[in-house]
Amino acid sequence: MPNQVTEISRFAYSVVVPSPVLYAQFGPDIHPYLVHLALRELGFDEVVDVSASTAALAATLARYLETYQGRRPLISSHCPSTLRLIQVKYPDLVELIVPLDVPREVTARELRKTLPARLGLPPEKVGIIYIAPCPAKIVSIKQPAEKEKSYFDGAVAIRDVYPVLLPHVVAAKKRFAAQDVPEGFTFDPGWATAGALTCFATSGNWLAVSGIDQVMRIFDDIENSKLRNVDFVEALACMMGCIGGPFVVENPYVARANIERQRQRHAQQCAVDMAEIEQKLKERYHFFEHPILPRPTRYFDTDLETSIKRLKERERVYQKLRQIDCGCCGAPTCLAFAEDFVRGEVELTDRIFLSQRDVRLPS
Ligand code: SF4
Repeated sequence: MPNQVTEISRFAYSVVVPSPVLYAQFGPDIHPYLVHLALRELGFDEVVDVSASTAALAATLARYLETYQGRRPLISSHCPSTLRLIQVKYPDLVELIVPLDVPREVTARELRKTLPARLGLPPEKVGIIYIAPCPAKIVSIKQPAEKEKSYFDGAVAIRDVYPVLLPHVVAAKKRFAAQDVPEGFTFDPGWATAGALTCFATSGNWLAVSGIDQVMRIFDDIENSKLRNVDFVEALACMMGCIGGPFVVENPYVARANIERQRQRHAQQCAVDMAEIEQKLKERYHFFEHPILPRPTRYFDTDLETSIKRLKERERVYQKLRQIDCGCCGAPTCLAFAEDFVRGEVELTDRIFLSQRDVRLPS
């Protein structure tokens, strides 16, 4: 059992919020409710889906784009790896990032607001854990770019949860009957696959791109003003979107088939109250707490000798990496990772990159 999961014992009440990608690790005959049952058997007191927040944010985004007057195309905000790429490599595009928060954080925020009062517990006794498809999302929870602190207490990788969850899912299926699904249970695969967000577009010219190389080609085109006829770009670092994340266990093509069949069989979309969406737009309720800012390299902030030393150190670290820009460590490119290391900012992620990149760090 991963540490982050066993750590839930320090809370009087624990809630888990799974990425919709978790459901895609199971075949279409596994009802998402069975996954919830199995998670509860693992020790979580409550399982909360991101469906409601996803529906609200999709409607908010569509409305925001209808009224937006500035430079285009706007760029989606829900892939932290892509955001990091923009901050580091395309600072001129930072202003194009849609300033809307992501479904997982909105879900956790709502839980933080309501759960302690509902349970009669002090806030610090309620723990909220996310099950993530990639290290970038885990890093974004530990070190968010757009707020002081995430609403989550921690996060765990799908690949770590899956082996312990699977036996419980199999056992739950044996005793499951369709009428066991409680009324009001909602499930929506959300934005797990590339292009899912653009499905919500009712007007405008939307484009979906996935895979870090393709994303960079599109960003180059935006920088060179070649995409003037596009209003919105959904940009995801992993090929095929989050179902292709580094922390998933299922082949992304199988996962996509799973999630599409689950959508056909089990999806219950959450109703969206447009009057409420309009009101929340006015209040900027779903907006980032802080703007996303460029992350300039600091090599030349200091004296020449130090700058040269840092550049050399960056090159030394970079040469030890696989240089495949897989995004596994949460940095968009290996060069960005090497820069972070030289700045001393990878302490947080070192276990991730050590296991993923098979690299011996310089001492
Ligand atoms: S799984 Fe891939 S596409 Fe999805 S948020 Fe993580 S890095 Fe981005």
